[in-house]
Amino acid sequence: MTHPSAPSRRSFLHLAGTGLALSTLGLTPAQAALPRSGPAAPAGGPVLLNFNECPYGPAPAALAAARDVAGRSGRYLFAMAGELRDLFAAQEGLGKEQVRLFPGSSEPLNRAAVLWTGAGAGLVVADPTFEALGDLAAARGAPVVRVPLRADGAHDVRAMVAAAARIDAGLLYLCNPNNPTGSITPAADIAWLLAHKPARTRVLVDEAYLQYSEQRSVIGQAMQRDDLIVLRTFSKLYGMAGLRLGVAAAHPDRLRELASLGDNPLPVTALAAGLASLRDPDLIVRRRAENAQVRQATIAWLGKRGFSCVPSEANCFVVDVQREGAAFAAAMAERGVVIGRSWAIWPQRVRVTVGTAAEMERFQTAFAAAIDPPR
Ligand code: PLP
Repeated sequence: MTHPSAPSRRSFLHLAGTGLALSTLGLTPAQAALPRSGPAAPAGGPVLLNFNECPYGPAPAALAAARDVAGRSGRYLFAMAGELRDLFAAQEGLGKEQVRLFPGSSEPLNRAAVLWTGAGAGLVVADPTFEALGDLAAARGAPVVRVPLRADGAHDVRAMVAAAARIDAGLLYLCNPNNPTGSITPAADIAWLLAHKPARTRVLVDEAYLQYSEQRSVIGQAMQRDDLIVLRTFSKLYGMAGLRLGVAAAHPDRLRELASLGDNPLPVTALAAGLASLRDPDLIVRRRAENAQVRQATIAWLGKRGFSCVPSEANCFVVDVQREGAAFAAAMAERGVVIGRSWAIWPQRVRVTVGTAAEMERFQTAFAAAIDPPR
């Protein structure tokens, strides 16, 4: 059974032919065929902890706004995009010329790979990290250097800067908190990286999960320099993955370059829901606390049973299952809980999205059974 909004199996196979689609989405072929989360997911169906989605979906005010505007969606409603951009800029202390909206943050990530990587312009990323940019850069013939995370889960900024100098990188990608670990790279390390990286290397800081953490954003520095691009998305804490809305903040010259690959008007439902989300004064704090509570309880439960996790401040974590991660994920799926996957560098660890408290109870039941199946 497939959720009506899921891409068809055929379109997935078509995309898979590019060598990008499944890994970009973090899917194994078996997971690609599984239903997606969302209000329409049948009660009693599988628990979906595989894509770092927000289990609560859009905030009630966001959902109401999206429903309201749908009747007017015969129009582009361009003015709403300006309103959202201006509100985001004001909230972040940026000028509006430093903010550009996209249908999700995948879009500027893809554009960054096209613009700033290639045969003569390498990419430096962490390992493990969100692969979209690295996969696309590699497919375009760019040398990609993957620098292992430090033991505490932070980016190894010194090794990354050395790698950038060695390959004369066009782009360096830093995801904070990182996907899949949810781990933090301290602000002081990012400041060191920005001060010491090669002049030619642009730095893209992906803050998709920032609102889940107490970490300070680097977005304000996009005011002061022309080599820093900061991405945000409404897909995670705001629960709008299927609505598609993301933001790039950077020097106007970098935004012009991102825009040079063409325009794409935004879904008006996403704009309305995005505006309502930004206007909700408690949403971030409420969801951050909810997520932290469930995450910490789950990680403590795992710890008591001898399974360690990289410290996380996001809505996902990586747990060492002490056996082949892919087989373990399959054993969990058989028990109705679909978790994320493993990265080649850590074959015995798997990523898990933090769901609701009830979903994480089902995770615990399935985990205990999959670790120790009856003989
Ligand atoms: N960046 C990171 C770190 C992600 O984990 C994801 C999605 O999982 C994205 C970007 C892309 O998200 P979206 O295109 O939905 O904004």
